[in-house]
Amino acid sequence: QAKQGGKRRYVFYANEMSKDALQFLRMDAALRRALERREFHLVYQPQVNIASGRIIGFEALLRWQPPGEAVIAPDQFIGLAEETGLIVQIGEWVLETACRQLVAWQRAGLCPQDIKMSVNLSATQFRQDDMVATVQRVLATTQCPPHCLVLEITESVIMDSPESTVQILNALSAFGVQLAIDDFGTGYSSLSYLKRFPIHTLKIDRSFIRDISIDGNDAEIVKAVIALAHAMNRNIVAEGVEDSVQLDFLRDHGCDQAQGYFFGKGIAPEEAAALLSRQQLPLHSVRVA
Ligand code: C2E
Ligand code: MG
Ligand code: MG
Ligand code: MG
Repeated sequence: QAKQGGKRRYVFYANEMSKDALQFLRMDAALRRALERREFHLVYQPQVNIASGRIIGFEALLRWQPPGEAVIAPDQFIGLAEETGLIVQIGEWVLETACRQLVAWQRAGLCPQDIKMSVNLSATQFRQDDMVATVQRVLATTQCPPHCLVLEITESVIMDSPESTVQILNALSAFGVQLAIDDFGTGYSSLSYLKRFPIHTLKIDRSFIRDISIDGNDAEIVKAVIALAHAMNRNIVAEGVEDSVQLDFLRDHGCDQAQGYFFGKGIAPEEAAALLSRQQLPLHSVRVA
């Protein structure tokens, strides 16, 4: 009787495990197919200069649209693609597509050369031996001016191996590509690395922006990061700005740039082009007075 129970339990666990493994394999296969069948696309979220209200760039954000299904956000599949290594191919597609898009807008006269395209790099991608060469090749094939490209990495990528990171960042920076730390404040990065590394921009994580007007600690953290960035001659972008109260706080404390639903979510290329051609934001985001 007890033996039977034990056996049944074993079978139960075995089923659970194989279910997970199966799920993993299915998802991996689905992602590989997605790449072949062109089921990925990018949306572009505007980044604005707070003082002028003008668009200064876009962040390319990955979307997966399996046929006949709802769009899937990157948080649902990037982790798995990182584990299987498929992120390297997906990431290269992202980089090339985003650069090509920016060049298309430039050639259509829609955006001056100071408008930048930000692309997220995952840890696995960043650690590829040929990463720098890949970026260089994509810039060459798309004819994207290097200074128009911003690569976003997180603090954990930097701190994972600071010595090799500084070499990679120096190499990228040497041919003009800009570098941003994404989700700044959520990881651990030593301030001495910030000083030594060719980082152009700190993107302060949206978790600090959310309650900026009601949480005194968040407000102080944001003020301190803005001051830090300025003292070190770095750009600062506030992520996740959703309302005018947050924007006013950031403006009053000298934050340079912002990104968030208040200005717009990630949008299709045609919409972004229309926005660029107006080079103006929805009326509600322009400060009156
Ligand atoms: P992230 O790089 O920090 O991108 C910002 C995320 O916050 C985006 O989510 C964006 O839609 C969302 N967001 C922007 N403004 C607001 C706001 O005002 N409020 C709120 N609640 N959310 C806002 P998304 O597109 O789902 O991307 C999630 C994460 O997935 C990104 O975080 C990035 O780490 C990763 N990711 C996106 N695209 C790529 C990619 O092409 N390659 C890699 N490796 N990672 C990517
Ligand atoms: Mg990002
Ligand atoms: Mg971010
Ligand atoms: Mg994030």
